[in-house]
Amino acid sequence: MLLTIATTHAPATDLGFLLHKHPDKVQSFEITGGKAHVFYPEATAERCSVALLLEIDAINLVRQLKTPNSSVSLQHYVNDRPYVASSFMSHAISAVFASAMNGRCETRPALIDQKMDLEATLAVVKVKGGEGFLRAVFEPLGYTVLAENHILDEVFTDWGNSSYFTVHLRNTLAIKDLLSHLFVLLPVLDNEKHYFISKHEVEKLLAKGGDWLPTHPYKEAIVRRYLRNVGNLTKLAMAQLTDTTLTEDDDEPLTNEPIAVKKRKNDLHFQRLESAAAVLVQSGAQSVVDLGCGEGKLMQILMKIGQFRKITGMDVSMTELRKAKDRLHWDQLSPRELERLTLMQGSLTFRDKRLADFDAAALIEVIEHLDLERLAALERTVFEFAKPKTVVVTTPNSEYNVKYDALSAGDFRHDDHRFEWTRAEFAAWATKISHQFGYTFEILGVGMLDENVGTPSQMAIFKKQV
Ligand code: SAH
Repeated sequence: MLLTIATTHAPATDLGFLLHKHPDKVQSFEITGGKAHVFYPEATAERCSVALLLEIDAINLVRQLKTPNSSVSLQHYVNDRPYVASSFMSHAISAVFASAMNGRCETRPALIDQKMDLEATLAVVKVKGGEGFLRAVFEPLGYTVLAENHILDEVFTDWGNSSYFTVHLRNTLAIKDLLSHLFVLLPVLDNEKHYFISKHEVEKLLAKGGDWLPTHPYKEAIVRRYLRNVGNLTKLAMAQLTDTTLTEDDDEPLTNEPIAVKKRKNDLHFQRLESAAAVLVQSGAQSVVDLGCGEGKLMQILMKIGQFRKITGMDVSMTELRKAKDRLHWDQLSPRELERLTLMQGSLTFRDKRLADFDAAALIEVIEHLDLERLAALERTVFEFAKPKTVVVTTPNSEYNVKYDALSAGDFRHDDHRFEWTRAEFAAWATKISHQFGYTFEILGVGMLDENVGTPSQMAIFKKQV
């Protein structure tokens, strides 16, 4: 488990002052589960980098974790904890760089708020929710995210990618802010924590995230994951972050954001919507049209994100549109919200002037509802006539169907699906779209990766070529 932080700020060795660790020494500290070592692979006036290396003793760790309440079993002896940055790294940051994270630097106080070009590299990190989630949490904080996804096995490359990434995060900011972001977000990435949580965790979260979480578009996802989906703690933290008062009998989640655990059985769809929303946030779009919006689940998420000034849902089905009105509490919306939102009936197989001038469009689990021979009409409506800068498309990965016990071979996941594509078929379609309409594209998996059949859902992100 290795974190390095590098800077080219002049003089780069200021980093040593800020971190209270001398560049010429290797220092070691005892932490929960093992040891943390701090050293400087390079320390010149031009470039300085500090490394925080954790040595986690997996066997000792299991012993330490064996409390009367814990359900740690033998399988935990064989775990990935020693290799991946997670809550251990977060704990090590707070233990080893406490002064820097809390903004103390007696010798050079002016450095505390000094913004510098910083690059943090996490040698390996496990990310539940994949690259989309990684970007969704770091990019709104100003980071440029470079993520390298590791394949599961170099010999069996067709097993596909793992959920492990090497991540580079670049930003210009004060070191205390970088450390606070890492402290809060590392345990959020893999969604696993090595200790039991209590109200004390809420205090830590507010202390480290209080400055930047309130305006983060994914604050609820972050808070929930940080607090391991413990509902009452999440509510407490969200109330403090959003300055609202909790009532005794307030047992509804504070918002209907898709991360709500009570809808676990629909996790995959929420994950899809979450990933699509993250892509839309990153695209910088201010106006979005949700094509085949159904009952408005994506719109409900987008509404909570201030970046989106105009959110339009279109569907062919009046029944679905009525459900969307209910879900979005149309009758109770303020005039300002009503100005932002539009629901309209229309078919994607016809050219429609109302679809022009959107920055981005979403087609979430829609294409597979069209007969293949009508898909070409949808393609022209979206990519030739509406031609938004970004289009995000999701569809099932049919290879994954073998994992669903209830499906016999050749069955589709939904009665109304007219086709379901393999990863290769989806990639071939995306390639065709990109050539025909002048878009570049990238395909991401959505959902838990299976080494043989990939992820349950697949997402293509199209960008209009300029
Ligand atoms: N995007 C929504 C709903 C997916 S279900 C979600 O992710 O929750 C597919 C939706 O596509 C249905 O609501 C269906 O009415 C709509 N649809 C199917 N064919 C369509 C067409 N030709 N034009 C517009 N919408 C269509």
